[in-house]
Amino acid sequence: MSQDKKSIVQEFIEFISRGNVVDLAVGVIIGGAFTSVVNSLVSTIIQPLISAIGGSPEVKGLSVALNGQTIDFGAFISAVISFLITAVAVFIIIKGMNTFNDLKEKAIEKAGLAKKSEEEAAPEPRKCPYCLQEIADDATRCPHCTSKLEGYENAAE
Ligand SMILES: [Zn+2]
Repeated sequence: MSQDKKSIVQEFIEFISRGNVVDLAVGVIIGGAFTSVVNSLVSTIIQPLISAIGGSPEVKGLSVALNGQTIDFGAFISAVISFLITAVAVFIIIKGMNTFNDLKEKAIEKAGLAKKSEEEAAPEPRKCPYCLQEIADDATRCPHCTSKLEGYENAAE
């Protein structure tokens, strides 16, 4: 019984210490912080700018009274507009980040740092020193010109 409990605790520890759970927690925390940055950007910079250029983004006076209940189309349209503004702001931020990443990759390529790893991933094929045809890495005799290669055992032949 106690052994079962221990294994469940162990399993739980393994579960919470797995990388994806930690990554998810970091994502949620950073996402929450990022949301407040975007909200601040929209409410303190973008919306006042729009108000200064083309009047208030708030849509007012579009409410209908129905049996004593107020249906406020204006508030709904305002919410949709602020969602679109937020989406555009996020899009611009992500686009900027992508452009920055592209520039970084190009700079790395220019510096020749990425080339090294590419060469390591795909080494050049071995070639016969006599006929210069591609041969297997462990071949001791060329299949194309039958020359004896390094490591050929019957050297006296
Ligand atoms: Zn050869």
